[in-house]
Amino acid sequence: MSETPPTHPRTTRYGARRADLEAALSAIGEPGYRVAQLYDGLWKQRAPLDELTTLPKALRATLTNALPLALTEVTAQTSADGETKKWLWRAVDGVQVETVLMNSADRATVCVSSQAGCAMGCTFCATGQAGFERHLDVGEIVEQVVRAQHATEQRVSHVVFMGMGEPLANVDTVCTALERLNDDLGISARHLTVSTVGVVPGMYRLAQHPLPVTLAVSLHAPDDTLRETLVPLNRRYPIAEVIDAARQYAAIKGRRVTFEYACIAGVNDSPHQADLLGHRLKGLRGGAHVNLIPLNPTGAFAGEPPDRERINRFAANLAAAGVQVTVRRNRGVDIDAACGQLRAREARSRRESTPGRGSAARSARMAP
Ligand code: SAH
Ligand code: SF4
Repeated sequence: MSETPPTHPRTTRYGARRADLEAALSAIGEPGYRVAQLYDGLWKQRAPLDELTTLPKALRATLTNALPLALTEVTAQTSADGETKKWLWRAVDGVQVETVLMNSADRATVCVSSQAGCAMGCTFCATGQAGFERHLDVGEIVEQVVRAQHATEQRVSHVVFMGMGEPLANVDTVCTALERLNDDLGISARHLTVSTVGVVPGMYRLAQHPLPVTLAVSLHAPDDTLRETLVPLNRRYPIAEVIDAARQYAAIKGRRVTFEYACIAGVNDSPHQADLLGHRLKGLRGGAHVNLIPLNPTGAFAGEPPDRERINRFAANLAAAGVQVTVRRNRGVDIDAACGQLRAREARSRRESTPGRGSAARSARMAP
């Protein structure tokens, strides 16, 4: 991007609603028909502002300043197979967040961050290990999707809230961002997925929202004793309450709920634990779908991923209990495509170049 980063908070380009665009254009005396040209260009064509040739060049330059971007690229990396691209962005106040674009034959998916950092403290997660900085705003969330769109020919059809942060701890903003991704960008609600570690009130809030978005619940354990050691929030919202909320979500929306399960060797991957999990997930409307994710090792957590054979056995036990299972592969491992990992590496290299500071904890997070 050749544009100068914004230095003070204003209406950002993708935080601005159509009415804000209208106000910005009328403030500089532009005729009414420019509103549709600008809106359609940014949201329907999904083109960068400086490529909107329906607008005169001078106007584009004026708007570039009047409607600044919220995010400045710090680094961008593409995986060896070219399918996965990952960005580290810096917001106006300096916080850094990550976004991942995943291209495949039938879809382009963007994985967005909803917060800078995360307060939930899951022990195996790089973002959780680093702690919470702040909530992202609507413009910062939506802009991640649009900026990723600018980097691919394929139309972005899916968005997953599986980057940094707990989306349901920032639920009002996330709901507005979902509305804008649906209304303005035209992404089908079913192709918008919110992943939560089990913020039960937020799950009910989302269930009441009119958009039938997909809910993913990060479980990682079939019982409270183990889950508490991995997900501290389980002490507040135990597993039965989380699954109940998921059950209600499925019933209200008529949508199948997905469960995420990071497989950790010798911790949560035994056949008995698979049976327990299968038992817990019985009777959800539309059935339950479990994504098994081999753990991405992080420095501050001693766990390792199980071998493939063990994960397949776990998957077979779940399937025998009537649960639909997918074993995920690690995407874009060569570019740290796991959310939280790129920012941690940047921080590490900064610390290593500062005398007197120890090397940082290694960190990693899976892309979905
Ligand atoms: N806070 C939300 C969404 C972001 S995390 C949540 O926890 O659901 C997205 C997914 O990545 C979650 O399922 C999370 O448990 C998983 N994850 C985090 N760290 C991981 C790691 N080191 N290995 C594998 N999966 C991880
Ligand atoms: Fe936060 Fe999700 Fe990481 Fe837990 S797994 S610390 S909820 S980002």
